[in-house]
Amino acid sequence: MSSEKRPEVASPVNFFDPKEPVGFVAGNLPHWRQEGVCYFVTFQLADSMPQEKLKLWLAERDRWLLEHPEPHSEEERKEYYERFPKRFQDWLDAGYGSCVLAGETEKAFVEAALKHFDGDRYVLREFVVMPNHVHVLVSPLGDNRLSAIVKSWKTYSALQINRALGRSGSLWQKESFDHIVCNPEQMEKIRRYIEHNPKALVDTPVDATSGRVALSEKRPEVASTFAATLSLKINEVYLSVQGESTWAGLPCVFVRLTACDLRCTYCDTEYAFFEGKKRPLAEIFAEVQAFDCPLVEITGGEPLLQKNVLPLMTALCDAGRTVLIETSGAHDISRIDPRVHRIMDLKTPSSGECARNLYANIDHLGPGDEVKFVLGSREDYEWTRGQIHEHRLADRVAAVLLSPVFGKIDPRDIVDWMLEDKVPARFQLQMHKFIWEPRARGV
Ligand code: SF4
Repeated sequence: MSSEKRPEVASPVNFFDPKEPVGFVAGNLPHWRQEGVCYFVTFQLADSMPQEKLKLWLAERDRWLLEHPEPHSEEERKEYYERFPKRFQDWLDAGYGSCVLAGETEKAFVEAALKHFDGDRYVLREFVVMPNHVHVLVSPLGDNRLSAIVKSWKTYSALQINRALGRSGSLWQKESFDHIVCNPEQMEKIRRYIEHNPKALVDTPVDATSGRVALSEKRPEVASTFAATLSLKINEVYLSVQGESTWAGLPCVFVRLTACDLRCTYCDTEYAFFEGKKRPLAEIFAEVQAFDCPLVEITGGEPLLQKNVLPLMTALCDAGRTVLIETSGAHDISRIDPRVHRIMDLKTPSSGECARNLYANIDHLGPGDEVKFVLGSREDYEWTRGQIHEHRLADRVAAVLLSPVFGKIDPRDIVDWMLEDKVPARFQLQMHKFIWEPRARGV
């Protein structure tokens, strides 16, 4: 993907003028309008956002709109932009969905649509076509309305792309985001954002079936370059299905590291506290590669207790694997390769290890990560609900996961509480405990 800077145009850029009236166009999303200004527009593929995430986002946005009726002040417009379109854009950069715009032909159709009425109905100032969304800086000319311009881009490109791919149905999400550019500084910031957007793409492609980044590609085997002295104490390496998280159900190679410095009351992997064998990193890497499975999870015990886990994860990412790490949340996650998806616990009161939560980690979480709470009581639930709101976890990560302590609490209670309180989280069960005997190892 590449951004395109348009040739310098004679038409000056008009910015938002607080003294001029602001119009409001009805629709599912608010669209503010002012004569002659420049807009930053984002539109995205219909499948660019996981449905459950979209639903939570829409519910939160609807609540905000209800609490902030029209007309909106400049501060409210700013707040809206930060809380909704901007957050949405960050999620888009995570690369969900079919990402058909990664294809040269499909991308060319969008570019042709954008350029078609340039200089006639609008001034096209800058744009970038990303795998699942498009950003444009545009100034409508004369009586031409932004909504009609965006509609024409989407209609033309959808027709051509659907025809080329032999598919039908909605290509684009119905609504688009637009934002009046307020001043030259903001314009410069948006220009830089458009220019750098392609660099935000992860280095790995998107799997069309799963809609998740990086699961599809089989890269050539890479030789490991670990120093012979690097090793890790490993409890077990095995192939199974991922059982907890949004990756649940996918084939996955597990690398379980020995040792943990916590003693959660519900721990089901006590055998990993001490059992294990010191093994060279190169050997572990080769064993994982031999499974030829695109998804790898590093777990424990607590994997971050052994610093050599960091180069192992980086090497696996370099080899094209999608790497997950499950961590207790008691150790610094900031040095983990950013390509790794971190599934981090926040220990609840009944775990007995709540005091070990390292809250500084929350600042390092991003849209590729997940936070897990294991609940054993109503008190745990209330504490968890407070943490989710206090740290705005649903805004930061791909998913907030709520699991029952197996055999200690009725899962239906948690589901009832979540539904009653509209908690922005995903309920989950430990899948492997239902497939195999609950205390089975190596599964
Ligand atoms: S952090 Fe995980 S491995 Fe360690 S005691 Fe708790 S549940 Fe067990």
